[in-house]
Amino acid sequence: VFAHLVRAPEDPILGVTVAYNKDPSPIKLNLGVGAYRTEEGKPLVLNVVRQAEQQLVNDRSRVKEYLPIVGLAEYNKLSAKLILGADSPAIQENRVTTVQCLSGTGSLRVGGEFLARHYHQLTIYIPLPTWGNHPKIFTLAGLSVKTYRYYDPATRGLDFQGLLEDLGSAPSGAIVLLHACAHNPTGVDPTIQQWEQIRQLMRSKALLPFFDSAYQGFASGSLDADAQPVRMFVADGGECLVAQSYAKNMGLYGERVGALSIVCKSADVASRVESQLKLVIRPMYSSPPIHGASIVATILKDRNLYTEWTIELKAMADRIISMRQQLFDALHARGTPGDWSHIIKQIGMFTFTGLNSEQVAFMTREYHIYMTSDGRISMAGLSSRTVPHLADAIHAAVTS
Ligand code: PMP
Repeated sequence: VFAHLVRAPEDPILGVTVAYNKDPSPIKLNLGVGAYRTEEGKPLVLNVVRQAEQQLVNDRSRVKEYLPIVGLAEYNKLSAKLILGADSPAIQENRVTTVQCLSGTGSLRVGGEFLARHYHQLTIYIPLPTWGNHPKIFTLAGLSVKTYRYYDPATRGLDFQGLLEDLGSAPSGAIVLLHACAHNPTGVDPTIQQWEQIRQLMRSKALLPFFDSAYQGFASGSLDADAQPVRMFVADGGECLVAQSYAKNMGLYGERVGALSIVCKSADVASRVESQLKLVIRPMYSSPPIHGASIVATILKDRNLYTEWTIELKAMADRIISMRQQLFDALHARGTPGDWSHIIKQIGMFTFTGLNSEQVAFMTREYHIYMTSDGRISMAGLSSRTVPHLADAIHAAVTS
């Protein structure tokens, strides 16, 4: 009965790793996937995560019962506090409902389905470009996806005028997806002053903000600084949605641990919103997994583990920042034509190099370097040892 099926294409991001795995070359380098690697090129399990897991294993009172539909209550509270701030008035006024979801992706999907069922505007504006999964998640959730200008290839920076024009002409009430920090794939974020202008424009047109926060702490190394745009939108008393992921900032990729928070106008509305979120979740996957959320809760509620986490997180962010400098210096030393200052200006896990798809194909063919065809490289996949190889490849790609 399935003989008529055509083979589906590989996912454009995950497909890079598939191609990398097939390459027998000893010098191959995978800069496609957005997962942190150590200087030695190895995946990293944070020390605090190991400690939390040990505590969980030692606690014989722990059982493997189902979690409630909305997940682990303690985890939800701590997650809202992490993104909105410990002193957030919205939390104190019980106006926030938080549900544990399957990492960032699942949080976006649950939020999207909730909006498709209960919000009066079905159009969501996403930045151009954005993470490739966004349009698919929201379309399948039942929303209609449009884009707003975000990146300017000429400056390799923000197209702020284009952004203001496009949001300015969006219909009143439309949903707007905003990357909370470390925009993927461009590494280009608005300044705090620009965020303030975006906030004023959006509030004046009653546009509904839906934040995707997949990199809190990973952009600047500071959890509070990276949450500032979200907190600005909460401080004005208005509504918003926030999807959080612990994949990057706790290195819990495969545990699929995230959260969706919806900031409402009153405690009463928040509790009705939560009751409807349960109706979205129950037929989708019933309830979320327990292990990852328990790790996160163990770390967030323990003062010592929390402090240690912030130190480990900052070390990851700093290593990425240092890779940016090293790559920039290596291109400078080679006299590679062009202005490469965007490599040190962009933030977060990725650099949007400006290399085109032919140049990317050339680098893969001649140098065994793997990345997405839009020229995005994961800085987290680089090390001091591999920077010269990448710089040689970029130099050859732009001069050949
Ligand atoms: N949003 C953005 C912008 C991302 O880059 C990612 C991960 N690549 C996610 C959401 C979701 O990731 P996960 O589902 O693994 O938390």
